[in-house]
Amino acid sequence: MKVLVPVKRVLDYNIKPRPRQDGMGVELSGLKMSMNPFDEIAMEAAVRLKEAGMAEEVIAVTCGPASSQETLRTAMALGADRSFHVESPADIEPLNVARLLAAVARRESIQLVICGKQAIDDDSNQTGQMLAALLGWPQATFASAIELDPLGTMRVTREIDGGLEIVSLRLPAVITADLRLNEPRFATLPNIMKAKKKPLDLLTPEQLEVGIQPHLQCLQVFEPPARKSGILVKDVEELVLRLRNEAKVI
Ligand code: AMP
Repeated sequence: MKVLVPVKRVLDYNIKPRPRQDGMGVELSGLKMSMNPFDEIAMEAAVRLKEAGMAEEVIAVTCGPASSQETLRTAMALGADRSFHVESPADIEPLNVARLLAAVARRESIQLVICGKQAIDDDSNQTGQMLAALLGWPQATFASAIELDPLGTMRVTREIDGGLEIVSLRLPAVITADLRLNEPRFATLPNIMKAKKKPLDLLTPEQLEVGIQPHLQCLQVFEPPARKSGILVKDVEELVLRLRNEAKVI
């Protein structure tokens, strides 16, 4: 079984995002970029399947500009065997990413795709779902546990409102990884060195016969209004008085 793990290069989760001066996006220049944290979890799940002898090959793929190759090297240091860089603009929208991923999945005869549940930059939470629809495959989103039996049936525990849901699906399928699926490993120095020699192949949307014209236009990116500062009250009586006379339901 071949497992495909789509990984996205995003602003590191420790950095507070700020709108660009032109108000048309988030400032990225000179800031630390990393692999989307949910994609690290997806990669860990795929590598564990390989280590358990349930997968033969783990392939990482990213859609983005040349700088995204750094994220593929990280993916290979974490255990991917090889990777594809599909050249595209950094702000490519989820539907077009899903179309490119579907083309890669068909071309590579993939049996399982494990995506992150969402990219922390656009918070879209759309790509895995649209990919499953485009491929006509079953999907299990927000996975917090996966078990694969040797006959190709997957049992996936999903985190849903108010509890857990367990679904069973036959491969080929798309899974999206939630936070509690696993704790990803760190890339060790020897594995970072080995990753430099692993195959990284370049693909273009034209080679995959996928048009990536945008369907969405960003009109503005701005920060939410700053919260007003609080006030100190001298005692409980004043608190109750103020709550009664001044507090409003928003
Ligand atoms: P999103 O729908 O944008 O929230 O992203 C959900 C998941 O789709 C991510 O966690 C990745 O696994 C995958 N994904 C999104 N954008 C890209 C991209 N540009 N390249 C590769 N994978 C992506």
